[in-house]
Amino acid sequence: MHRERGTWSPSQATLSKAQTVLSATEASGDLYRNGLGMIASENIVSPMVQKIVSSDLHGRYAEGLPGKRYYQGCDDFDTIESLGIQLAKKVFNTPFANIQSTSGTVSNIGALKALAKPGDKITAVSTADGGHISHARMGAVGLRDLNLSTYPWNEERMEPDIDGACALIRELEPRVALVGQSVFLFPTPLREIADAAHEVGASVMYDGAHVLGLIAGGCFQDPLREGADLMTGSSHKTFPGPQGGFLLSSSEDPVFQRKLNTSIFPGVCSSYHLHHVAGKVVALAEFEEYGTAYAHDIVKNGQAFASALAAEGFDVLAESRGYTASHQVLTRHGDTDSGAGAKAARLLEDAGIITNMNMLPGDTKALTPSGLRLGVQELTRVGMGTLEMQEVAKLYARVLLHSEDPSVVKQDVSLLKSDFQTIRYCFNEENINGYPF
Ligand SMILES: *Cc1c(COP(=O)(O)O)cnc(C)c1O
Repeated sequence: MHRERGTWSPSQATLSKAQTVLSATEASGDLYRNGLGMIASENIVSPMVQKIVSSDLHGRYAEGLPGKRYYQGCDDFDTIESLGIQLAKKVFNTPFANIQSTSGTVSNIGALKALAKPGDKITAVSTADGGHISHARMGAVGLRDLNLSTYPWNEERMEPDIDGACALIRELEPRVALVGQSVFLFPTPLREIADAAHEVGASVMYDGAHVLGLIAGGCFQDPLREGADLMTGSSHKTFPGPQGGFLLSSSEDPVFQRKLNTSIFPGVCSSYHLHHVAGKVVALAEFEEYGTAYAHDIVKNGQAFASALAAEGFDVLAESRGYTASHQVLTRHGDTDSGAGAKAARLLEDAGIITNMNMLPGDTKALTPSGLRLGVQELTRVGMGTLEMQEVAKLYARVLLHSEDPSVVKQDVSLLKSDFQTIRYCFNEENINGYPF
């Protein structure tokens, strides 16, 4: 027997708002399905992860840790999170992993809560040199009320000036020496920085948000064995999982480990988005199987794409170091502060190539930078290789160097992309049209 229900029919006005969202969501999906997603912080998730992130777990809570919950109904999620912690320790080769954080920024806020007190000193890369906003006064560093000093920068090598950074740490004796960037072409010279930091009693925090997949795949650097006490990161950039974060540590000390766990819950999260955590666990299992190959292919493609752009006539940064050792490539499109990067990004979008403008060394304004930051991790994920990198570089040249009509180039972008619709490096590799809607 069903209980009598009142009839409910929505007004066209309210329904049309929801329909607007649905059709804009579909249009956004089409943009990436038919175009080239080249924003260095983005990725697409596997079909199995897609399924899990839209599961019933979305509506549930599991405060605490596996086996120590405040609510009932968590036994199945305990199975998921316990497996995830175990897999994260294995994939990142580390004795401690917390997989609850809802983003890289949340991981950073939690880490800074565990490592420092208000008023403490911290050293980091400046945002102008590629540091993340969460490393700045306007972000997590400011939220914790830390006293920030930034490292001198070596523009030629696109990394902290190593002697200057070590001298700064020895002079200031900060509580935390933070390294890692959002513009991240080359591994950080970590051992030297960690030695200086440990000498003065500072903790070393490595923000691997962008390069976590490359690190876990053994293709970038190994921060937790090069002196970092803590590594934070996003689970959705080169690590190809759903949006979220990781907090990882080389410490075996149970007191410190407990501090790290409580810095996430109850420190900065109540619900920690169980559907995304479960998706992360599947992504970790997929990474265990395919991650090394994926990371290797990303770096190979990054280098191939950079060389191909240079061969087309673009000004690609860090030529003397082989352009890149990560998924990122930086290009300069005009004079410092000219806004040429913004203009290039708009033209590329008109051609179906999605990128972001980026400040380059010398630029002082975030809205009129001279460069682009490009990432190859998503194109790699759908099976593009070094030959396609050359094709993509040619499409860039047609739009930006030969002034071809972007709407004409867009047809060729879409044609190229039509052959790359299957998400790879995941369990059901036979998936066709695996792009989310
Ligand atoms: C992207 C990024 C973050 C933040 O990650 P979210 O998951 O977007 O919050 C933190 N640090 C660095 C260096 C990043 O590039």
